[in-house]
Amino acid sequence: LHFLRALPKAELHAHLNGSIPLPALQDLANQYLQTEQEDSDAVRASIAQLQAGVTLNEIHEFFGLFPAIYALTSTPTALAQAARAVLAHFLLPRTSLLDPDPASSTKPSSPDGKFPEAAYLELRTTPRETSAMSRMKYVETVLDEVERYPADRAALIVSLDRRMSADVAAECVRCAVQLKEAGRRVVGIDLCGDVKAGDMTTFEAHFREAKAAGLGVTLHIAETEDTPVAEIHTLLSFNPDRLGHATFLDTPMRELVRSRKTCIEICLSSNLLCKTVPVLADHHVRWYLREDHPVAICTDDILPFRNSLLGEYALLMAAPPLGLGLTEAEVERVARMAMECRFRLGSRMES
Ligand code: IMP
Repeated sequence: LHFLRALPKAELHAHLNGSIPLPALQDLANQYLQTEQEDSDAVRASIAQLQAGVTLNEIHEFFGLFPAIYALTSTPTALAQAARAVLAHFLLPRTSLLDPDPASSTKPSSPDGKFPEAAYLELRTTPRETSAMSRMKYVETVLDEVERYPADRAALIVSLDRRMSADVAAECVRCAVQLKEAGRRVVGIDLCGDVKAGDMTTFEAHFREAKAAGLGVTLHIAETEDTPVAEIHTLLSFNPDRLGHATFLDTPMRELVRSRKTCIEICLSSNLLCKTVPVLADHHVRWYLREDHPVAICTDDILPFRNSLLGEYALLMAAPPLGLGLTEAEVERVARMAMECRFRLGSRMES
């Protein structure tokens, strides 16, 4: 366990509103419910469900968890509080994940044996307009929290949701580009959201603009078996730097990804809990590892999945059938690959 805790790990695929630690969520819920809101009962029920632990029958149920969480993070103050808690969870050194009071140092390790979950975090979030803030204010609020940490520890990816209209997607990319050009720490653009929603061809111009501005591009792709092949081809034609999940790529698509050395963000527990992969023995990460292809092991959404980055790495090392049975040297190599796939100024960070 000491080996895994001390290993410098990069968390490259964590959604802000899916990664709020439970105690922080409870605080936000208490504040929200102090004033009786129209949706108080629904929010109370959803928070209770998240606290009890979520069981999903299939991935589509997952997206229904977010309206209640969004109700709690719809003001700049509450959003900043949520972002601060997520960043602290991943980046502050602690003795163990059960340690409720992590040291406040922003250095990646401390001499007293405390280590953070992640040496580096690329946090992603979807800009939302609410009655209390514009999308620009949303991104600035999260960035203010990200930038409390040194540049080699934290950065922000702006997510586009597949359900967005072309105008809203354009606005989000404009925010990201303007902030990057103003020297703020936005390093990439993501495409996420309900796997069944949207027409991906409408996003091409937005990703072209993001790339031209020097932002890295990562796309959730082929999360479910019924993803249309044409959609996967469209997304691959955007020349992404990284891919999220990429669970159902056929052999020619995998070969294309391999020839481009596109990093795959792998979320083992998320795939198992969303039932897109039945058992780890069948997980597509095995193919990429065999091919020595760049992968980044990530958590996705620790709030519903109750996982941790340490736990995801432990799955790599655990003996089959529980884990993948990798050696320490192999796991070190995997951790190094994730570090090499960080975005920096629009491309992979050279290390
Ligand atoms: P946010 O972007 O900070 O609001 O984080 C929550 C959002 O991330 C959700 O509403 C989804 O759109 C997106 N998300 C989280 N996990 C996944 C996933 O596994 N696939 C696709 N989208 C996801």
